Amino acid sequence: MVSLQQSLKQYFGYDSFRDGQEEIINQALLDRDLLVIMPTGGGKSLCFQLPALLKKGVSIVVSPLISLMQDQVMALQDNGINATFLNSTVNFNEIRQREEDILAGKIKLLYLAPERLVSEKFQQFLQILASTVTISFFAIDEAHCISEWGHDFRQEYRQLRQLRFRFPHIPIMALTATATTRVQKDIITQLNLKTPAIHRFSFNRSNLYYEVQPRQKRNYQQVFNLINRLEGSGIVYCFSRKTTEDLASRLHQDGISALPYHAGLSDEVRSKYQNSFIRDDVRVMVATLAFGMGINKPDVRFVIHHDLPRNIESYYQESGRAGRDGDPAKCILLYNPSDEYKIHYFIKQKENIQEQKIAYQQLEKVLEYAQTNYCRRIVQLSYFGERFKGDCDCCDNCLNPKDIEDWTIEAQKFLSCIARTQEKFGIKHIIAVLKGSKSDKVYKYGHHLLSTYGIGKDKTVQEWEYLGKSLIYQGFLNQSNDSYKILKLNKESWEILKSKKQVKIAVVNTNSSKIIDNYHPKALEVELLLQRLKKLRKKLADQENIAPYVIFGDSTLKIMAQMQPQNLKSLAKLSGVTEYKVNKYGNYFIEEIVYFLNEENLTVALPSNTQMKTLQLYQQGLTIPQIAKERNFAVSTIITHLTELIELNQSIDIDKFVLSKKKEVILKTIKEMGEQPLKILKEKLGDNYSYDEIKLVKAWYQKMNNQN
Ligand code: ADP
Ligand code: ZN
Repeated sequence: MVSLQQSLKQYFGYDSFRDGQEEIINQALLDRDLLVIMPTGGGKSLCFQLPALLKKGVSIVVSPLISLMQDQVMALQDNGINATFLNSTVNFNEIRQREEDILAGKIKLLYLAPERLVSEKFQQFLQILASTVTISFFAIDEAHCISEWGHDFRQEYRQLRQLRFRFPHIPIMALTATATTRVQKDIITQLNLKTPAIHRFSFNRSNLYYEVQPRQKRNYQQVFNLINRLEGSGIVYCFSRKTTEDLASRLHQDGISALPYHAGLSDEVRSKYQNSFIRDDVRVMVATLAFGMGINKPDVRFVIHHDLPRNIESYYQESGRAGRDGDPAKCILLYNPSDEYKIHYFIKQKENIQEQKIAYQQLEKVLEYAQTNYCRRIVQLSYFGERFKGDCDCCDNCLNPKDIEDWTIEAQKFLSCIARTQEKFGIKHIIAVLKGSKSDKVYKYGHHLLSTYGIGKDKTVQEWEYLGKSLIYQGFLNQSNDSYKILKLNKESWEILKSKKQVKIAVVNTNSSKIIDNYHPKALEVELLLQRLKKLRKKLADQENIAPYVIFGDSTLKIMAQMQPQNLKSLAKLSGVTEYKVNKYGNYFIEEIVYFLNEENLTVALPSNTQMKTLQLYQQGLTIPQIAKERNFAVSTIITHLTELIELNQSIDIDKFVLSKKKEVILKTIKEMGEQPLKILKEKLGDNYSYDEIKLVKAWYQKMNNQN
């Protein structure tokens, strides 16, 4: 008998199950009802796909979004698995054809939208199916859509209640990534699950790195620098449509392929942009929250939030679109204290007082996430009722604990200013007085006469704000709950004022996202091969009109680049590679690897560490001055690195640095004069041509000459 493990390898190419999968699959094989609660990227699909293949008959999968359904079916088909879907995008004849195939027992997995499943006409078809081919089970994906308590209720899902009455003996498996227990209970009741086996996993997404950075004034530059240093595809979430447009177009101008996405664009444009992103034709989506639901792109490598999210749950969902394939990915939140006021404005628009109250509470939690000096996961997971011990080793606070400074004196200035203005004002006014502002309001109240007037000029408004917030957060100061946010002293405040208590502030570290040091030659070789394999994957995907990840996931390509299989047999052994894929794509990949290795052997010399760092930044699209600044070197040093890299056979495109007209003239001069020292070429070319330009073109020319 074939073991489950063997089937896993045969159909999906994986060597081992993830936590929980095996038990769930075993229970499904025993016809149990199941409720599976697993975070995004946990591997839910496999829990119904594998039993569907092993059981007799056809399994019915209900999925809310047509695009998701199509993606999943396409990925299965590309693995040689007989899956199909029926929805409104399929024409009448095609539906007839597919139904015939299903009744002929040719299909193992049938994907449907809920409205079709419960339609009277289709129910007849199902009855026939159940009594002939047999239906092995119903899998209800995104099952939280059935609950009004969830964030994504869908009326059509409600009707799935009929299934149990119409097909009492067919097991049901419900799957969701929702976190709240109320919704979980509701799913069981609505679907009428019979003593279901419940599998609830931690919501911790251990492959995601979380970081909060203070959003700087020049925030475009900040976003640009971030993306430049990150790898792969990513999403930048923004609050407003306008910001998405502005950011996307500036990024595009600066050489990062990016598109905007928001509800103001037509359906057609949106789906076009979305497709470009999934197919890796565009690297970055700059989007409002309208983007993401139902987008099946497992290899999103980073999600940046340009503005503060509304609550922890939405932050978790949105940032969670990164790294669904389980590979490392980064979630970075840019936080500026002023965001809070923007959100206040929106909360005040809500008419219902109760809703307002909930919104304020949720905001508190997000602020806690943004401001905490402890492990970010503690705040995040506590929101879902999980106790996390901290020290995750994968968030900014755990990786570089912040410097703690003593700000007792500053706190005393701040608090005494509150006392002297009689605890009647909010943070802005207190700071205005401390900074010695000449505003009307300050004069009107005579606050320019106070002893605290102007004693805080040594610190910026932001620093005072940060201190004020920290005092509130640490419970050393109160703030009224109404919209005036008046600051009031409490017992702790007075202790600080009497020097009985110290105030420690964690100083925000802005030098995060360091570049990786110490490249060694093997890592470089793997990286170069990986780039080649990615190019090949994209080419093949375009030919077939599918998304690149469908062919092989990022992690599989990485293993391939590391292991460098040179025949089909060793390729087939790698995780993520099935027999079917070996037959379909194996030769292309083997050929590429063998070719690369032969070519590699010709280039004996490899770049040094320092050349390598320059190369890395160059590959990330930085200009020469940017590289120089980043590395703290003179521009001329970077030029030298680049010429050396050209000599070392690295692909450096000098057209990025030298205008083509100038390049032509320099080339012509070199050809005419023969190989001459730089100085002589420079004299000949004159002031319009810099040493740097001549140097680059010369190196490039020599390289070309040697190759021919
Ligand atoms: P979910 O539906 O829970 O968000 P998916 O089912 O899409 O997650 O799985 C997430 C990723 O994990 C996919 O790329 C999938 O191929 C991969 N995966 C699932 N199970 C395994 C496994 N046992 N070994 C390796 N990768 C797996
Ligand atoms: Zn942590």
